[in-house]
Amino acid sequence: MAVLVTGGAGYIGSHMVLALLDAGEEVVVLDRLSTGFRWAVPDAARFYLGDVGDRTLVARILAENDVDAILHFAGSIVVPQSVLHPLDYYENNTAKTALLAAMAIEAGIRHFVFSSTAAVYGDVPDGVPVAESAATLPKNPYGQSKLMAEQMLRDASAAHDFRYVALRYFNVAGADPKGRAGLSTEGATHLIKIACEAALGARSRVDIYGTDYPTPDGTGIRDYIHVSDLVEAHLSALAYLRRGGPPQVANCGYGRGYSVLDVLNAVMRLEGRPFDIHYAPRRPGDAASVVADSTRARRLFGWMPRHDDLDQIVATALAWERRLISRPVGGLRVLHGRLAANF
Ligand code: UDP
Repeated sequence: MAVLVTGGAGYIGSHMVLALLDAGEEVVVLDRLSTGFRWAVPDAARFYLGDVGDRTLVARILAENDVDAILHFAGSIVVPQSVLHPLDYYENNTAKTALLAAMAIEAGIRHFVFSSTAAVYGDVPDGVPVAESAATLPKNPYGQSKLMAEQMLRDASAAHDFRYVALRYFNVAGADPKGRAGLSTEGATHLIKIACEAALGARSRVDIYGTDYPTPDGTGIRDYIHVSDLVEAHLSALAYLRRGGPPQVANCGYGRGYSVLDVLNAVMRLEGRPFDIHYAPRRPGDAASVVADSTRARRLFGWMPRHDDLDQIVATALAWERRLISRPVGGLRVLHGRLAANF
């Protein structure tokens, strides 16, 4: 039996592939390499180059492999882009998920884990961990495209012998503690990535988007979850589905938050090198504080996070960033523009 990982060459997907292989699973990867990298997929996984929306290719993959579960990571994730190109997001995140689920059902594949997002909630009350029962009112097409996919999966599982878990990710960060994978996506705007680049001299400064939020230090608070714990949540969700567990939606976060200043301090302290900080206005659409209530994932799947520690998240992110800068794996494409010019 094999597990099909779509988007397995991307940031989270590549960590997932490693964790599945470590667990002794047979792994098949489908990735079109729009943001991921071929080198990020170990040889032990079977790799198919192509799009999740390519019906012929997906049919071939399902015919050639004894797939019992699909972990569907492939998708578009840049919020401002989703505002500019909403239909691309509905196509990529919603329509292609419908197609993949339909093909899974047709092929008798009953287990499906879907990468969803905290963006499905929209505005959340400040300072209160958000539970899955909270209202889902996405503020942008990205969150809406993921919510619609969740709703389709719910209806499909009611009609067919098909069960899914949708995991709503909070702020995923960090890298494989063994140094085998990390966030290499070009132009990524995640705070921890940006701060690591600055600490390593690859970026001149970090802008803090808003210092007047109603939080203790005035900067935004997020629930940063180590990517290794996130993939562990997928493993436990997969085991849950294989045990016959009914469809679920579950948050993936730790239930505690750190401010932008907490993050920047941790990065400076761990790298031992200060960098310039610029106080900038709030970024449109940002909430003050977004923290998960992760009771459900722990209770239902038996998920037990092992890296719930900001220093560990930052240290692994720094180690990966150092490696990208000093030893560019896969050539210049892994470097962001400024650095590429120097090589
Ligand atoms: N942030 C910041 N400067 C940056 C990037 C992010 O101050 O260069 C803040 C952002 O406003 C938010 C937090 O850091 O409060 C996390 O932002 P990120 O883009 O990493 O994830 P998001 O929560 O927006 O999905």
